[in-house]
Amino acid sequence: YDPDNIFAKILRGDIPCNKVFENELVLAFHDIAPKAPVHVIIIPKKPYVSFIDFSKNATPGEIAALMQSTGHIAAELNLTEAGYRIITNAGQNAGQEVPHFHLHLLGGKALPPFPV
Ligand code: 5GP
Repeated sequence: YDPDNIFAKILRGDIPCNKVFENELVLAFHDIAPKAPVHVIIIPKKPYVSFIDFSKNATPGEIAALMQSTGHIAAELNLTEAGYRIITNAGQNAGQEVPHFHLHLLGGKALPPFPV
């Protein structure tokens, strides 16, 4: 885990973010380069690099918090009816840019056919 990655800096408050949601275990903020009208990044506060790292090493409470927060945010942003997409990129083949595990929540328009 690289503690100098951009999301670690956001978590430390070293750089700002446009916050959508926060609790003890989870932070969510608008993507700086949105690919849809709604594009929110949802991250665990603990330092996990990728989906596999998170799924292997996070506590059940951390995993539940991330899932429940993501559902809560999607509903709060009024995506329930029209729909939305949740993705995660892991590693080189997926083009993961920031090595702190995160979910992308996308919506607000008809999204292009998967994959986006
Ligand atoms: P990845 O390719 O790692 O799945 O996605 C990283 C995402 O982080 C990209 O969609 C990119 O636009 C976003 N991002 C990169 N730097 C920043 C930043 O400083 N602030 C915010 N809010 N988003 C960022």
